[in-house]
Amino acid sequence: MASHRFGIPLAAICALTLSASLASPAQAQVQTQSRAQAQAQAQRAADPYCVTHKCIALTFDDGPAEYTNDLLKVLKKYKAKATFFLIGNRVKKHPKLTKNIAKDGHELGNHTWDHKYLTDLEYKAIYDEVKKTQDIIKKTTGKAPVLFRAPGGLINEGARTIIAKFGMIQIPGTVSTQDYIKDYRDVEFLTGRALDIANQDEVVLMHETVKQTIESMSAVLEDLTSQGYSFVTVSKLLEGQELTPGGSYPEQLPLSGD
Ligand SMILES: [Zn+2]
Repeated sequence: MASHRFGIPLAAICALTLSASLASPAQAQVQTQSRAQAQAQAQRAADPYCVTHKCIALTFDDGPAEYTNDLLKVLKKYKAKATFFLIGNRVKKHPKLTKNIAKDGHELGNHTWDHKYLTDLEYKAIYDEVKKTQDIIKKTTGKAPVLFRAPGGLINEGARTIIAKFGMIQIPGTVSTQDYIKDYRDVEFLTGRALDIANQDEVVLMHETVKQTIESMSAVLEDLTSQGYSFVTVSKLLEGQELTPGGSYPEQLPLSGD
């Protein structure tokens, strides 16, 4: 991850050195040690969470859907926070499920109004896909998303400009279980896939519309918990990084797939 997360403020180091120099040498050494420890502790506390913890961001696309509440239940059991990239027309149809996701402390992202590939659309149509979805999520939960994921990972310059206009960043994901492939829809297989691709600071792309993905979550979360992972929202994973509206994060090649 970005190296600028790790800087210690220069002024803090200067202040520490100056105050230590006013005491006797022995005192100064003790003071320097204890203050250095305090300084290190304060620095750790000031660091973004994922600098000091083994984080992973699980993301679920295309909902809200019929398995949303089942997914929320298993996430809660493992104290896992996730990010849901929602389709606007489904939010309109399922306001209660949308509120349930927000209420549990998960992050909501914009995944367009009806999941059209943006590269097939004119500028105005892309704008409508994005805006209508922002509006319905804001109306339903009180908060407009700051994250955007394009259907199929397909993006063009017009779409990028529009995403920037809304102050959002793109989150294509860094790894995927590829649960959109019908032949992969087997609980044991998808569990293995998720555990194979899981790594620190990855953004894992899955679908909350795939029953077998939801059914694999219990085993996946159990295993990753035993490996010491913290399950965080994408915004928490990116905390401390400078983000440019319209830009794509983490900086990796976009994944294909819905
Ligand atoms: Zn999708």
